[in-house]
Amino acid sequence: MRKKLAAGNWKMNGLKADLHEVAALIAAHPTPKCDVLLCPPATLLAAMSMTAAGRIAVGGQDCHMAASGAHTGDVSAQMLADAGAHYVILGHSERRADHGESDEIVLAKAQAAQAADLTAVICVGETEGERDAGATLEIIGRQLAGSTPEGATGANTVIAYEPVWAIGTGRTPTLEQIAEVHDFLRARLIERFGAEGETIRLLYGGSVKPSNATEIFAVSNVDGALVGGASLKASDFGAIIAAL
Ligand code: 13P
Repeated sequence: MRKKLAAGNWKMNGLKADLHEVAALIAAHPTPKCDVLLCPPATLLAAMSMTAAGRIAVGGQDCHMAASGAHTGDVSAQMLADAGAHYVILGHSERRADHGESDEIVLAKAQAAQAADLTAVICVGETEGERDAGATLEIIGRQLAGSTPEGATGANTVIAYEPVWAIGTGRTPTLEQIAEVHDFLRARLIERFGAEGETIRLLYGGSVKPSNATEIFAVSNVDGALVGGASLKASDFGAIIAAL
């Protein structure tokens, strides 16, 4: 049985003064039924990890593929772990678009995450143009195959389906469209990893909010959510956690 996961991606938001949201979240949901993860900007990781005190998990939003070296401005998987992270989001569409991250790059980063004992949350998703062209499953299949390393397990890998056109737009796919993609991802994971593919959690992301969380979480093969905007406030994210 896959344990559900509520994951929040703070993106480039959050200062030390915002950590009270984390304390409030923990106070309001002392014993959540699901796993809870927050991924703040790297600058807040260590402080959030102290605030979280093991009650919820924290993670990075990206890492470099190398363990250390002459890479000014970058952060390695090992450094994230050292700051208290247990997870790292990789291949988010904003990284793929803004930093030219290919499947090969995401794969190398996921291997670095595995080596540092971090769970990689690998993101896949089609653009609106790709969906309109009927290429959704082809694109997602290629991203999944190209970005997921050998040795992926339910413990070291989570896959997040985030349609690019649903991110920050208030638009979401129909429940049938979400089910189609998640069932496809599950089948591909089982094809490649056998029974282990059953244990890898599949998150939906893109305009998840308290008002649509319950219906999305009831969809086949949806094991939780990767939440952007609605993860910033304890009240919103708490309501999503309660829906899981
Ligand atoms: P929103 O929930 O703000 O649409 O963002 C989704 C996302 O990109 C999470 O990684």
